[in-house]
Amino acid sequence: GKINIAVDGFSSCGKSTIAKGLARELGYTYIDSGAMYRAVALFAYRKGWITDTEIDDAALQMHISEIDISFKTNSEGQQETYLNGENVEKEIRSLEIGNGASRVSALGFVRRELVRQQQAMGKKKGVVMDGRDIGTVVFPDAEFKIFLTASPEVRAQRRYEELQAKGNPVTYEDTLANVLERDERDTTRIESPLRKATDAIELDNSHITITEQLQWAMDMFNK
Ligand code: C5P
Repeated sequence: GKINIAVDGFSSCGKSTIAKGLARELGYTYIDSGAMYRAVALFAYRKGWITDTEIDDAALQMHISEIDISFKTNSEGQQETYLNGENVEKEIRSLEIGNGASRVSALGFVRRELVRQQQAMGKKKGVVMDGRDIGTVVFPDAEFKIFLTASPEVRAQRRYEELQAKGNPVTYEDTLANVLERDERDTTRIESPLRKATDAIELDNSHITITEQLQWAMDMFNK
C-alpha cells in the first residue's frame, strides 16, 4: 500500500522539486506545507496584524479558525493555494510573505493548527509533504524521509532566479540575506526547530542536477 513521504530542509533548497517529482513518479499527492504558513501570514498581513517589528498574536490566535486553506490543481496541472476560497498562489510567493510565514510559524498555536490539518491530509496515505517538521512532527511515522541541504549561496541564487522569472523584482543580495535570516529563525525557534529526523536520509544537492536528485530519491525509495 501507499505510505507517506516527508521531505524537509532549509528554505529554497529544492524541496518542492524533489517532492513533486516523487509524487509524479509514484502517483502520490504533493502537499506544500510552507504554502499553508504563507497563507496564514498573508491573512495576518491583510488584517494589519504583522508589521516590520511586531505580530499581533492575540488577534491572530482569536481568528485562526477563520483561516481556511486548500489546494487545487490548475489547468496546467500545477497545484495552487487558496485562502478562504481565493487563489493566492502568486501573492504568497513574495519575499515579504516568506518572511511573514517564517515569523508566524514560530507561534505555537499556528503550528498546532496547521499540523492538525496536515495530519488530516495524510490520513489516507499516499502524500508527499515538504516542509521543516514533516519527518519530525507531522508524519513521525513516515516510512520514507528525506532531509535536503544546499549551500546558502546556491539556494539564494535559485530563489533569485525563480523570483525574477515570476516577475518579482529583487536583488541577489536581498535574496541571500532573506535566506540566511530564515535559516537562523527556522533553526533557533523554540517550537519545532528545523532539524533532520534521525531516520531521514540526507542529500546535499548543491552540485547535482534535478534529474540526478530525483533518480537518487527513487533509488533510495525502492531500496
Ligand atoms: O517552504 P517555504 O519557504 O514556503 O516556507 C515558508 C516558511 O514557513 C519557512 O520559512 C518556515 O519558517 C515556515 N515553515 C515551517 N514549517 C513547515 C513549512 C514551512 O515552519 N512545515
